[in-house]
Amino acid sequence: MSTVSEIFASKVFDDKVMRSRLPEKVYRSLRRTIDNGTELDLELANAVAQAMCDWAVENGATHFTHWFQPLTGITAEKHDGFINPAPDGRVIMELTGKELIKGEPDASSFPSGGLRATFEARGYTAWDPSSYAFIKENTLCIPTAFCSFGGEALDKKTPLLRSMEALNKQALRILRLFGNKEVRRVFTNVGPEQEYFLVDREMYLKRKDLIYTGRTLFGAKPPKGQELEDHYFGAIKPRVQAYMEDLNEELWKLGILAKTEHNEVAPAQHELAPIYATTNVATDHNQLTMEIMKKVARKHGLVCLLHEKPFAGVNGSGKHNNWSMSTDTGDNLLSPGETPYENARFLLFLTAVIKGVDDYQDLLRLSVATAGNDHRLGANEAPPAVISIFLGDELSAVLEAVETDSPYAGTERKVLKLGVDSLPRFTRDTTDRNRTSPFAFTGNKFEFRMVGSGDSIACANIMINASVAESLRQFADALEGAENFDDKLHALIKEQIIAHKRILFNGNGYDDAWIREATEQRGLLNMRTTADALPRLLDPKNVSMLIAHGIFSETELKSRYEIQLENYVRTVRIEALTMADMARKEIIPAVTAYSGALAQGVAGKKAADPSLTCAYETKLVRKLSCLADCADAATEELEKTVTVLDGIGEVTKEAYQVRDEVLPKMAALRALCDDAETLTAASYWPFPTYGDLLFGV
Ligand code: ADP
Ligand code: MG
Repeated sequence: MSTVSEIFASKVFDDKVMRSRLPEKVYRSLRRTIDNGTELDLELANAVAQAMCDWAVENGATHFTHWFQPLTGITAEKHDGFINPAPDGRVIMELTGKELIKGEPDASSFPSGGLRATFEARGYTAWDPSSYAFIKENTLCIPTAFCSFGGEALDKKTPLLRSMEALNKQALRILRLFGNKEVRRVFTNVGPEQEYFLVDREMYLKRKDLIYTGRTLFGAKPPKGQELEDHYFGAIKPRVQAYMEDLNEELWKLGILAKTEHNEVAPAQHELAPIYATTNVATDHNQLTMEIMKKVARKHGLVCLLHEKPFAGVNGSGKHNNWSMSTDTGDNLLSPGETPYENARFLLFLTAVIKGVDDYQDLLRLSVATAGNDHRLGANEAPPAVISIFLGDELSAVLEAVETDSPYAGTERKVLKLGVDSLPRFTRDTTDRNRTSPFAFTGNKFEFRMVGSGDSIACANIMINASVAESLRQFADALEGAENFDDKLHALIKEQIIAHKRILFNGNGYDDAWIREATEQRGLLNMRTTADALPRLLDPKNVSMLIAHGIFSETELKSRYEIQLENYVRTVRIEALTMADMARKEIIPAVTAYSGALAQGVAGKKAADPSLTCAYETKLVRKLSCLADCADAATEELEKTVTVLDGIGEVTKEAYQVRDEVLPKMAALRALCDDAETLTAASYWPFPTYGDLLFGV
């Protein structure tokens, strides 16, 4: 057995490997490219490529791929061999600098939302040196960005990198105003906590809904769900433990800092949290984590479900996106400090987040909008669809003291003067965490809790970075050229707290009264479905902000709007067709077979003894026949809504049809079939039940 430190990053071409394998001069240029984004010339790229290739071949790789994140939400790769003919008739293994830097996958089948029609048919991938190359199976994976030849982004990584750059630029302006000349870069960091379900693979294979859609479309509530709360943090079962150990090892090899694992609230639900990393690396790692979770599960006869709502009636899965900003000199800008300078800086960055979240609630909401996540948000288990920020009592009291120029208890009842007075040390509030808040301050980071479990975290972080960059831009504009910096700073923070305090809420986000208060009194947005949220992407205020920071072009936004909405429509369409198929071919036949057997039994019993009433069977046969009739009618109704959907031809209208017609008809069909399940003998039911799936591992 090797130790963790031996296997950790053993499959990553990381700094340690680079340093040991590259000539000093090449290493230093590459480091500059990684740290500052300077260009690497071709000669150096050749040297890096060959070192990468040699290392990969020594570690068992035969192929390489440009690994990228198209708008399908998963990752893509096309493998090429290192193999090349040598003059002596044998082969050499090589990778050229050109092959490292740029690739041209035949990308015509990736979603482009019309971009490729308008621009070029082909796309290209470009090496992202800030994320290390790694080996997966027999392939060296080179993380890349994916663009059209017109330069339009066709992936999730390009705008993510742009958003990090935008935030860096504006944050540096602020730091310079505070007199800081040392910091050269501001990073955003993310630690995504990943939730998932594990089910038995044999059972999974008996359910078309799980196979085609990743979630159950039918299933009566089992007698036991999560009401005893006996699963959360409970002892981990041996089979799951073996899975987690295997998973950790695979992730460690890839340099992913898998750290925490525990059982989650719902039966069969678990969580894995890594140690946080720079946002683009964290995003790459989270994509890999999801892929490897699924792969390792197969080895253990399990299936890992990453859907946001695999089972009705118990919690769904999300991803808590822990987000912070830090400098290359090691300062966390969301960490309250010791000195008046650090405190003022902290409050300014904190206020920037508050303003960003309030101004761009809609962008944050739509960044997590998918058909799957619509089942979670606002369903009393995940945060509501209304965005608000939790700060906790202590910090709220500080902001209130600043806002009202009133004495703050922690400062010996003095009125706070930012930039001059020290704030009292905040105790990191870990006891009384508000789990119902969509955007919670947790000591030195914000936790955005609305991200779906199966989704890439890129979109959410693009929008967080963009919103905060815009606040910082406005703050820097206001503060640059101020006559008295401290006075202006104090006034600015005060004015911003007043302007944006409507977004602050420390109470119970699940409470209906809050939703009413939020929407009616505070004017916050409540966008319940993807169809409601996504159109806001093209809102002029959002478009102009995202363009101004160079994060998206207008065409990119339009294409993304189309792709995301199309994805919503197609996902639900597949679900509807799967339901109709299961109802017709499995559920209704099972119900009919059982009621038929009952009826035959009645005939047999009556023949034997005409005085028997057979009241039980007769009643049940009647109920089941009626349910079968109704389920048949409901299936037809559902199919009609899909026919209408297929005739629309305009994606926004299609999304409304899905929201208003298809989904309600799906719910109606499900209710009938779930009823029938509770009345049908177990031996007749055609596939594993909720009880089997949730308690079967
Ligand atoms: P919990 O929220 O469950 O109490 P932690 O606070 O320890 O757990 O962290 C949860 C996640 O937040 C982990 O992935 C962790 O690495 C990440 N995290 C911790 N500090 C930061 C930070 N400054 N920036 C971003 N993520 C962070
Ligand atoms: Mg957490």
